[in-house]
Amino acid sequence: MTGAGFILAINLFMAGLFAAAFMTIAIYDPRRESARWFALGYAVGMSNFLFEFAIASFGVSAILALAAFGSFLTALAIFNVGVAQKYSIPVPWLTMSMIILAALVACYFTLHMSRESFVRMLIYQSPYFVMQAIAAGLVAQSRARETLDNLLLALLAASALQFLSKPFLFQMFGGTGKSADLYITTGYAMLSQSMGTIFAMAIALMLLVILVRDVLADAHERSETDALSGLLNRGGFGLHSATAIEQADRQGIPVSLIIADLDHFKSVNDKFGHAAGDAVIVAFSNFLRSAMAPHHVAGRIGGEEFAVLLPGTNLVAARLFAEGARGAFANLDIEGMPPGRRCTASFGVAELGQRETIGELMARADEALYLAKNSGRDCVKIAPRSGRRRDECQGTAISIV
Ligand code: GH3
Ligand code: MG
Ligand code: MG
Repeated sequence: MTGAGFILAINLFMAGLFAAAFMTIAIYDPRRESARWFALGYAVGMSNFLFEFAIASFGVSAILALAAFGSFLTALAIFNVGVAQKYSIPVPWLTMSMIILAALVACYFTLHMSRESFVRMLIYQSPYFVMQAIAAGLVAQSRARETLDNLLLALLAASALQFLSKPFLFQMFGGTGKSADLYITTGYAMLSQSMGTIFAMAIALMLLVILVRDVLADAHERSETDALSGLLNRGGFGLHSATAIEQADRQGIPVSLIIADLDHFKSVNDKFGHAAGDAVIVAFSNFLRSAMAPHHVAGRIGGEEFAVLLPGTNLVAARLFAEGARGAFANLDIEGMPPGRRCTASFGVAELGQRETIGELMARADEALYLAKNSGRDCVKIAPRSGRRRDECQGTAISIV
């Protein structure tokens, strides 16, 4: 086997390995559609190497030459579908289909040209350049790029340029062989296949790392998120609020905490069913989400118990926030509940004291909530500071009207 043939064999093997690696990710996380496209892209890429072997073994025919050319271009296009999906950019189906069609026609008409022709080589490599440049363009369009994504963008751009460099390189490295079946014996084939291997491997590895990063980040987020409400769960709330408190500490700004508990929730379940109860939890969570600012931290810390940490907010402002939330929620029509049925919640508010931990703050807000429950529910109570106690009950005792 020639050197270039050996590299072709390695490429074939490697494309298979990467197809398997992307498929593994796709099976592990079926929602990650991009992984399926990458797997398909590398699988189709394998067929290109098979066609190259066929040409070297059985001699060239127009069909085989077009198949080798078209399969690699199609593999690049399939790869681009994965890139577009990964970065949530619309897939340029029409552009890519037109490129493949035009490139196949152009390639067909260059078949009779001398293999040493610069123009022929330019026509052959340009579609690869454009297709790979589209991948770079898709990544560039993403606003949520991190370091790894920028590295991928650079790799894709370099790989695109690599295709464009081939019409120049093949002349410097002794041509592509007098006939297609001799391509595999040339020094240029060796160089071209090696460059292709290096880029294909670097891009695939980078993508694998990026996908694994995304999978891990998703798993981490899911471990901190409550599935029903979409808010943070108790653990997530603890972690995020500890970070927010540290930051507020550094900035020297106040921090307040509101704990809310739905009133007579057990009777909602008993009267209207568990699904209606769930609907109330979702409604209250959505309501909180719409009322809070991006720097607030909200979590579902128990069955029907919620917490909102308000950095930059003192006790007075936090109480106003809670009052507004209480009043608005008590008048909210809830989807999933019989029309006209309202639910209420009780609220406890506390402001973070000097050197107080999140646990201690939660305990004080809980005490205020307990007070609110004992004061007839549907009201806001604030936790006493330095022995001070204030009665803030403003609502009526009506819980479910
Ligand atoms: P209070 O006004 O004193 O808070 O009374 P309550 O009935 O709201 O409180 P209690 O602690 O007696 O009951 C809470 C109920 O919340 C009991 C439990 O079945 C229900 N619950 C907890 N988690 C969920 C959930 O995810 N979905 C539904 N539908 N109900 C839940
Ligand atoms: Mg309750
Ligand atoms: Mg409760």
